[in-house]
Amino acid sequence: MTSAYIHIPFCDQICFYCDFPKVLKEDQPIEEYLTTLRWEMEQYQVKEPCETLYIGGGTPSSLNEQELEQLLASVREMLPFSGGEFTFEVNPGDLNEAKLHLLEEYGVNRLSMGVQTFNETLLKKIGRKHNRQDVHDTLHAIEKYSTITNVSLDLIYALPKQTIEDFQATLKEAVELGLPHFSLYALILENQTVFANLARRGKLLLPTQEEEVAMEEWAQEYLEARGWHRYELSNYGKEGYESQHNLMYWDNKHYYGFGAGGSGYLGNERYRNHAPIQHYLAACQKGELPIVEKEVISRSAAMEEQIFLGLRKTKGVSKKEFAARFHQPIEEVYGPVISDLLAKGLLQEQDDFLSLTPQGRLFGNDVFVEFLLDK
Ligand code: SF4
Repeated sequence: MTSAYIHIPFCDQICFYCDFPKVLKEDQPIEEYLTTLRWEMEQYQVKEPCETLYIGGGTPSSLNEQELEQLLASVREMLPFSGGEFTFEVNPGDLNEAKLHLLEEYGVNRLSMGVQTFNETLLKKIGRKHNRQDVHDTLHAIEKYSTITNVSLDLIYALPKQTIEDFQATLKEAVELGLPHFSLYALILENQTVFANLARRGKLLLPTQEEEVAMEEWAQEYLEARGWHRYELSNYGKEGYESQHNLMYWDNKHYYGFGAGGSGYLGNERYRNHAPIQHYLAACQKGELPIVEKEVISRSAAMEEQIFLGLRKTKGVSKKEFAARFHQPIEEVYGPVISDLLAKGLLQEQDDFLSLTPQGRLFGNDVFVEFLLDK
């Protein structure tokens, strides 16, 4: 079994915090992009069924109906699908009945919606176009489609001038929607974003580190008391609604990545495609795969990744899976490090799993450094 990520880089807006590969949709060669994307998928001749499919962006929901059908048909014709999880990213306000009908027809069963906050003043300040009503209207429209069984909301906290009370109001409103999954991300100032520029000029007032931690801790307590469990550092789900595609990343498994800026992990290589659309199209037009960078993952790098990614999960790293993948028990590679971190109370061991303690989560980077093999 394998998985696939498909990137649609077009957006109707450019959010002030975003460093994903994306471009304003207006005047872009969308039809050419979708045709090229199909060609790229075809080159890989994927035979193994994909357990999870994920169409992300950018904003895939910004495609019109004709474009959406072209995309979904290509994905389903080029990539064998096991019938597992098929996620499509949406922005509030983008989905009409015709688009929802297409998503259902082509087997999409999970939607991930970028809401970020319910505070309309903040939405404008972070460069989003939608409003609260768009979120409610979109969710109302989705209700009729019984095959879409999982809907997740993305929220961002520690936004400029955001107070703890404001974040609490957003999360409470989200919880009232009764959805099975939330992703909560602390704002990160990424290079070459509007926010990073404002911050450099001293024009961005962010909550303090203490306030950010208080928001995170409050959210965990609030959600866990109501049945959503924190199964990964930024993700909360009801039992059985955890994102299978994202778990695949944290389990350090192999996957295909398609589209401008897409990346994949096949065999012992990670690869990344050209992000600028024109570079992506030009490579494919020459009959070449649009890969800009490949990295051979050595055995020791793969072991490190298995730990770093696995420790993001609340459940942690499976010792059995580590041994099965590397034909070597984890203790043989990391015995003294594990004993030391257990003794310091940063790591805990339960049955087959090694995971971070609450203290370990706070000092995550210090823990990860200990697992580097070529220090
Ligand atoms: S956050 Fe999403 S919608 Fe906003 S610019 Fe980035 S990819 Fe586009």
